[in-house]
Amino acid sequence: MNSVVLSPTASSSAAPGRSTATLERWLTGPRFGGLPARHAGHAPPALSFEFFPPRTEALEQQLWACIRRLEPLAPRFVSVTYGAGGSTQARTHATVARIVAETSLTPAAHLTCVGATREEVDAVARGYWEAGVRHIVALRGDVPGGGAYEPHPGGYAYAADLVAGLKRVADFEISVAAYPETHPNAANPLADLDNLKRKLDAGATRAITNFFFDNSAFLRFLDLALAAGITAPIVPGIMPVTNFAQQAKFAAMSGVSVPDWLGHMFDGIADDLETRRMVAAVVAAEQVRLLQANGIDEFHFYTLNRSDLTYAIAHILGVRAKVASPTPA
Ligand SMILES: Cc1cc2nc3c(=O)[nH]c(=O)nc-3n(C[C@H](O)[C@H](O)[C@H](O)COP(=O)(O)OP(=O)(O)OC[C@H]3O[C@@H](n4cnc5c(N)ncnc54)[C@H](O)[C@@H]3O)c2cc1C
Repeated sequence: MNSVVLSPTASSSAAPGRSTATLERWLTGPRFGGLPARHAGHAPPALSFEFFPPRTEALEQQLWACIRRLEPLAPRFVSVTYGAGGSTQARTHATVARIVAETSLTPAAHLTCVGATREEVDAVARGYWEAGVRHIVALRGDVPGGGAYEPHPGGYAYAADLVAGLKRVADFEISVAAYPETHPNAANPLADLDNLKRKLDAGATRAITNFFFDNSAFLRFLDLALAAGITAPIVPGIMPVTNFAQQAKFAAMSGVSVPDWLGHMFDGIADDLETRRMVAAVVAAEQVRLLQANGIDEFHFYTLNRSDLTYAIAHILGVRAKVASPTPA
């Protein structure tokens, strides 16, 4: 510990607005603060993992290796996406049904409004309920291949309508999407927050965010949401980035800002997968540690059906595999 004693001269030389106490802390406190260390006694955060339904036999094997590796981390739920315009309806259903039948995991099925009547969407939801699925991630969806969104004439127009419809089908647990940097179709950030509130008022109990790299945007969004009367959990969606060029394209399409430093981190390693994966782990670990230091204790991981980065980052967050206790002799 530094033993500097402040003289009146020292305090009066402080920059305007900076108090003596701040200056004193600066001079006498530890030089390198760092993020708070997690002790073994801290409760680990609650995690959820997102998968996409596989298109080929090889991808199916990759997905199941990923599920088996992440299963012992006992996530709160795992979710399976629904392809643009419902294009993966059968594959999403098959993946979710296999998770119910063959694992200890609790699945959540994504479901969208786009390109289907209300009756068709309700029938898919009923099929999930009958298969034992109790959690739906309710989304509007996008037009397959891009283009301006138009509600289907006989369909649910927006996610808030879908949430209300699902609640009429059965008493599902429902999660919805949120956008810390505002959805690109929203008139403005406050209109987007109103929309989030409508989805929660219609019966959703959790929001999962789109991926983001600017933690301060997420933390500001939490403040705005609270000010708008939203008290449901808003869980950050974490995307470990290994393919920077592709992720930057997705970010541009969905209004997510890509800080300069992130591009710089991946500069010059486009052909070096090993280094990219290490950089990706560091970037994502820094992101979640900073969020954890700001009191966030729930995380949703976009796994892209690969377990290694998600597993390592979960470990850094303090999550450990639940090992079955040995049977007493
Ligand atoms: C966690 C997460 C998971 C996702 N999973 C999938 C998936 O599995 N499959 C898939 O296809 N896509 C998925 N998406 C993408 C999502 O479908 C798109 O982002 C889509 O563009 C918006 O969906 P939403 O549910 O947020 O829409 P909504 O909440 O309906 O909002 C869409 C836009 O419309 C505006 N809006 C809402 N209501 C009205 C109204 N009445 N009048 C005018 N404007 C309105 C909102 O402000 C917003 O800008 C996911 C996104 C996230 C964040």
